[in-house]
Amino acid sequence: MRLTFLGTGTSTGVPSIGCSCETCTSDDPRDKRLRVSVIVEQAGKTVLIDTSSDFRQQALRFGLKRLDAVLITHCHADHIFGLDDIRPLNFRFGALGVYANERAWTDIRRIFKYIFEPSHFGGGLPQILAHTVVPGARFCLGNDLEVTPVEVIHGRLPVMAYRLNDFAYATDLSEIPPKTIELLAELDVLVLDCLRFREHPTHLWVDKALEYVEQLKPRRTFLTHIAHDVKHERDSARLPAGVQWAYDGLEVRG
Ligand SMILES: [Zn+2]
Ligand SMILES: [Zn+2]
Ligand SMILES: [Zn+2]
Repeated sequence: MRLTFLGTGTSTGVPSIGCSCETCTSDDPRDKRLRVSVIVEQAGKTVLIDTSSDFRQQALRFGLKRLDAVLITHCHADHIFGLDDIRPLNFRFGALGVYANERAWTDIRRIFKYIFEPSHFGGGLPQILAHTVVPGARFCLGNDLEVTPVEVIHGRLPVMAYRLNDFAYATDLSEIPPKTIELLAELDVLVLDCLRFREHPTHLWVDKALEYVEQLKPRRTFLTHIAHDVKHERDSARLPAGVQWAYDGLEVRG
């Protein structure tokens, strides 16, 4: 299994427009963060988690050739606004399976109304095979990739995180319910939301994220959805062994 970080930045991206802080003006490529998204590849299947607002740029940078499925965590703009850019893949391979919970589908149908209620002729629309996921209801993509949708809480909003074999991707959350803790046991790799060092009402911050790491005990943890408060090199020493800041382009193999 290979997981590649396409983006690791908070909703504004880093650098943040107009900001001249130490991170936003850094020359270190690890301080340049597009909006959060990952690609997971396993036994010939390629799965994207979230069509971020930077999806087109991310797909070109990654050299994306095809996708077998898209998993959606939730419907905030930074995670979903690239959905229209799956069209070149549709032109070549037809409709694409997209997995999201019921609440996200309600929002997707409203935001992208033109996809579901076409009102004009000509021009290509995204072609989506809509699948509704339910927390704890596992499904398989191909023979060797088992996906378990699990629920986490993002402020007050329940959002989806996904376990893919013994990798898990859990972003945009402030709380992991006990039921989800059970489903995230014995992970090789955990990708976990962590905005910054200071507290935040809808995201994890370092101390809180490390409490969950302590509880879940994954073999390796990568923190994502990172704000400009965090400078990669400067702040890497502030994390314990086995936990690191993710950065755009980072590949993790398992
Ligand atoms: Zn987000
Ligand atoms: Zn800044
Ligand atoms: Zn969000």
